[in-house]
Amino acid sequence: MASAANKGFMSNSGFVITDAGVVVYDALATPALARGMLEAIASFTDLPVTHVIVSHYHADHIYGLQVFKDAGATIIAKRNGKAYINSEHAQQRLQQRREALFPWVDGKTRLIGADIWLDFKTAPRYRLQVGNTALDIIDGGFSHSPDDILLSVPSESVVFAGDIFSSGRLPFLVDGNTKVWLQSMAKLAKLDAAAIVPGHGHASTNPAKDIELNTRYIRFLRQQMGTAAEELRDFNEAYEAIDWSEFRVVPLFEAANRRNAYHVFLEMQQALFEEES
Ligand SMILES: [Zn+2]
Repeated sequence: MASAANKGFMSNSGFVITDAGVVVYDALATPALARGMLEAIASFTDLPVTHVIVSHYHADHIYGLQVFKDAGATIIAKRNGKAYINSEHAQQRLQQRREALFPWVDGKTRLIGADIWLDFKTAPRYRLQVGNTALDIIDGGFSHSPDDILLSVPSESVVFAGDIFSSGRLPFLVDGNTKVWLQSMAKLAKLDAAAIVPGHGHASTNPAKDIELNTRYIRFLRQQMGTAAEELRDFNEAYEAIDWSEFRVVPLFEAANRRNAYHVFLEMQQALFEEES
């Protein structure tokens, strides 16, 4: 969890150096972290950051945006993020972070919208050409959030996946849509990358294995919770009766599993109602 003690540093971001500028994926959780990242980039290259791709508008990935914006970068995000920026919820979240992460997030920290809002209506991906490097900005659907975006760097066989992918740990599914999430896993697998960088935790150098774990876990939850919803069972009772041993050994089980299961239970209930109406 982000805290004043860890200075909000619990999420990943990445950058790609081309011969014409630097492309950043995600701006981290505070302006101070973003400034640190700019310094790190400057230790590799004198070229400016030309673009920042926003994986999604969740608090732990966005409050560094103002630093890149002030440095002249073009911010690119999915159009659904615009509704978030303009929402009451976004203001409340920022206020909460100003208190929880003070002084790293404070009264000068602001919400930054994109310069380019992508809606992916006409294409599931956009090609971003910077110098002689081609990058693919790919629609992540509404998997983890309404505005998920992936960034693929085909020349390096690397994908930045934000929070729709977890490496060696269970994902946090709350707020997400697990049906679409499974489709995104299939999409990720097709990219056949040598490495995938998640929004949290270490990078995966064995994406096939991690995609399989993410997929198997989400399928298991949907199947178990689908049955529980269909049989009109009480969530707690159903939860206690499930044999979780397959996933209990995976890191973050204690922190994530019960909430994930409840979220999927509600999703499956909703799906049943939709079927019937
Ligand atoms: Zn997130």
